[in-house]
Amino acid sequence: MKKIAILGSTGSIGTQTLEVVRNHGDLEVTALAAGSNIRRLEEQIREFHPGLVAVWSEEKAKELRLLAADLNVRVVSGMEGLIEVCTCPEAEIVVTAIVGMIGIRPTIAAIEAGKDIALANKETLVTAGHLIMPMAEKYGVQILPVDSEHSAIFQCLNGEQQREIHKILLTASGGPFRGKKRGDLEHVQVEDALRHPNWAMGQKITIDSSTLVNKGLEMMEAKWLFQVDPEHIQIVVQPKSIIHSMVEFVDGAVIAQLGTPDMKLPIQYALYYPHRRDLPGERLDFWKLSEITFEKPDMETFAGLRLAFAAAKAGGSMPTVYNAANELAVSRFLSRKIPYLAIPEIIEWCMAEHKAIPNPSVEEILETERQTHEMIESRW
Ligand code: NAD
Ligand code: MG
Repeated sequence: MKKIAILGSTGSIGTQTLEVVRNHGDLEVTALAAGSNIRRLEEQIREFHPGLVAVWSEEKAKELRLLAADLNVRVVSGMEGLIEVCTCPEAEIVVTAIVGMIGIRPTIAAIEAGKDIALANKETLVTAGHLIMPMAEKYGVQILPVDSEHSAIFQCLNGEQQREIHKILLTASGGPFRGKKRGDLEHVQVEDALRHPNWAMGQKITIDSSTLVNKGLEMMEAKWLFQVDPEHIQIVVQPKSIIHSMVEFVDGAVIAQLGTPDMKLPIQYALYYPHRRDLPGERLDFWKLSEITFEKPDMETFAGLRLAFAAAKAGGSMPTVYNAANELAVSRFLSRKIPYLAIPEIIEWCMAEHKAIPNPSVEEILETERQTHEMIESRW
């Protein structure tokens, strides 16, 4: 029995992780954490019997304690609760499927407690990769990517030498607005941006996929996971999301991982690594597929991707500004307070106003996030 804890169990990755648990008999859920959907949490407690559950607000935690009064579960709340879930003694691996850089402190706590990390929460690595990767090495824990592109790269690198990588080819679907120009995007509504062509995901990452900020975050995530400079990460648009990413080696050989778009594959690959397990569902049929096409990304229209390369180049606290500005801008767009094109504008403005701090500590990262949000609040 492999024992797992899940941060963000009610979300898209969280529920698919539980589906993987349901499909196999040898995973045990020891702890769960989620934001506010206590009805779904209650169902999850009844089905998977974790001993510990964290909810963000104490008010919701109180409600959940009543709902689950007949069950043998302890309900905790707040950041302390998230950290308790990440460090609970039984868990061997923590799936970080929470959204946003709120995942930084819990992820660090999990590493310090010696847990392997199945990492979906890319914002944490983007902002604190320089702290997390050396820490994982120090504590001897594995960081196993759940993001489909990074899982693909990880699979392509199996048995290969890091120093023999020439470049990473990070594939992108191009999102729902592929081929559009800036003028076409002026009146984009929340519903339009939430319509992803290939993947069903949480709202924030779906908006990020439409602006290509998601690919920018993934480029920085790849930089930390695989220790590759951004100049050696090339974004390749491949609209059907069949090739999940590729690696080109020094001799020119390119290795790719392909499959139907199903997040359960990278999730279970991370949970069972280095083994593969059965996964029911649709398989690729190359006779039906017939072609796979490629394009260059349009970094002028999708300024969010261009800005990600600029943030990575500046380094230090600049990726935090990029990410924190995007997190707040996306939440404002989702609540219809700002137009779609304000998202990259806000990121660009915040980055221009910021002087990067080299090697920021966790406190400096969180302070940079706070200042970035304050700046946005003063103007938008
Ligand atoms: P989601 O919005 O569907 O789920 C987020 C989860 O985090 C929910 O369970 C929510 O309750 C929880 N959460 C949010 N704030 C919280 C808080 N303050 N305290 C405790 N829990 C909190 O998001 P998602 O699409 O599952 O994405 C999760 C992460 O995985 C993101 O970082 C995303 O970029 C990454 N990711 C997602 C996908 C995907 O297919 N959905 C693919 C690759 C990477
Ligand atoms: Mg991805």
